[in-house]
Amino acid sequence: MKTSIATVSISGNLVEKLEAIAAAGFDGIEIFEQDFIAHDGSPREVGDLIRSMGLEITLFQPFRDFEGLPDPLRAKAFDRAERKFDLMQELGTDLVLVCSSCHPQALGGVDRAAADFHELGERAARRGLRVGFEALAWGHHVNDHRDAWEVVRRADHPNVGLILDSFHTLGRGIDPDTIRRIPGDRIFFVQLADAPRIDMDLLYWSRHFRNMPGEGDLDVTGFMRAVMATGYAGPVSLEIFNDQFRGGLPRGIARDGYRSLIALMDDVRREGPASVPDLPDIPARSRVGGVSFVEFATRGDEAEALETMLTTLGFQHSGTHIAKALTLWAQGDIRIVVNRETTGFASSAYAMHGTTVCDIGIAVEDAAGTVARARQLGADPFQQPTGPGELDIPAIRGLSGSVLHFIDEASGLSDVWSVEFTRTETENTDAGLRRIDHLAQTMSYDEMLSWSLFYTTLFEMGKSPMVDVVDPDGLVRSQALEATDGAFRITLNGAETHRTMAGNFLADSFGASVQHIALATDDIFATSAALAARGFKPLPISENYYADLAARFDLAPDMLERLREGNILYDEDAQGAFFQLYSRPYAGGMFFEIVERRGGYAGYGAPNAPFRIAAQKRLMRQKGIPKR
Ligand code: MG
Ligand code: MG
Repeated sequence: MKTSIATVSISGNLVEKLEAIAAAGFDGIEIFEQDFIAHDGSPREVGDLIRSMGLEITLFQPFRDFEGLPDPLRAKAFDRAERKFDLMQELGTDLVLVCSSCHPQALGGVDRAAADFHELGERAARRGLRVGFEALAWGHHVNDHRDAWEVVRRADHPNVGLILDSFHTLGRGIDPDTIRRIPGDRIFFVQLADAPRIDMDLLYWSRHFRNMPGEGDLDVTGFMRAVMATGYAGPVSLEIFNDQFRGGLPRGIARDGYRSLIALMDDVRREGPASVPDLPDIPARSRVGGVSFVEFATRGDEAEALETMLTTLGFQHSGTHIAKALTLWAQGDIRIVVNRETTGFASSAYAMHGTTVCDIGIAVEDAAGTVARARQLGADPFQQPTGPGELDIPAIRGLSGSVLHFIDEASGLSDVWSVEFTRTETENTDAGLRRIDHLAQTMSYDEMLSWSLFYTTLFEMGKSPMVDVVDPDGLVRSQALEATDGAFRITLNGAETHRTMAGNFLADSFGASVQHIALATDDIFATSAALAARGFKPLPISENYYADLAARFDLAPDMLERLREGNILYDEDAQGAFFQLYSRPYAGGMFFEIVERRGGYAGYGAPNAPFRIAAQKRLMRQKGIPKR
């Protein structure tokens, strides 16, 4: 399988695009004519430049408004085609994409179009070139791959074939299984794009909202399974028009593209029955058992403040590392590592971000297999020197320089706590916190698709619908990712303005970061009482909130009173109830959340977020945090 991507999918100038595409691991590019024209260099130089980067030109595009024209427009269209053929030969590519005509004077008629393509095929064959016909979803006469195939079939020329594009087929709601009856050797090229389901004009939707397979709502896997069933053996290429990507960093977008394409083709192979030739073996998505640990990089007063917060939350200082400045804090199945090292990764993370979550440990069935999959999808491994008696725990770089470690039982990695830490005997301080319910990562809105693709291609996780969280100073978009059994949940919060609580945290921390950790209890009221006894100070919630709560939900007066007394927030969905208790913000806007889910409540308390955020902001303003 040859991987390819259209130059239009990536931001930057032509050289930046090519460098990013080559670095991400693609085999080839579709050269978009506009990217060539904007570049200052002869076609031969551009072709040589592309090949010098180890890439081949899989396709030249687009050639528009060709078929069905009356004379003299028809003759002019053939003249235009000959000039494109000249250019293709200089560049060094043999395939041109002809998209179905939107010309106001184009006439309909399958035979007329077929005759035009037969003649174009003759002219292409004289130069050893090939012509591919693509049905644009908004083409005037041909806007369905079945009609384009009929034109190609009747053109009956070996140098004329079909080009399929998942967006044009799936965007119009055409059953992709209709592709299965097309002979694979008559399909010259396949373009892939996903898109979020938005009800809007097809052309506008296509030009602005396409995204990488797996990032949207279209069944790109089903489309590609149908294509592979035909015996198609040509390039699989991404063609993504997206406003956000145009403003993104070339390397990040190219890496996302490669990750999405390999994950997609791996899914196609797994779902079978058609094979995907030349795709290397890739371990399956990892099933996550939960968060094994969260590690903070911190120092000095901020470290003291964090440990005081952990103490009031009922955590026990349960271990000290045999060689490094690490302390382990535990409660239930929750482990928090406080790292005060002055060298190594955590130290650099602290230097860059101040107190921050620098590392997340994920419990998986096969740690080495998880890293192998991540690497096949383009992630970089992460390695730090291990001292005597320390375990070599497999790890990768996540996005934005973050680090993920993988812990399994099978290779003994879950023994790390007894192997690397000396046990500290302390009194039992348990406040009923059992496990990590979710981690909330804050990022700029533009990074959300990258992160959700990263998690959903590596782990067995699904996406919940995006929800809007209203901050008094702007909107924050929130996307939850969850393992099917709920053992691992992450919320991605995308901020567009620095005036929001999330945006302000982001401005201080220079990148996507864990802003809050939600800890689950089985009894919120017992936990709340235990925490109060330990000196925990909850986030004060306004009286008005409880007055409104009484109006919104049918709650017994004593229940309402217990919520109000404990500063506990409440929500319901069709399945059950949700209770939330927040810590006060610390270290530039991080906080802890304590939750109880009853009866299968599936959300994250989004309706409460505006009141929680307002309360946090009141407190931060009083205290003069954050600094900016
Ligand atoms: Mg296309
Ligand atoms: Mg939360």
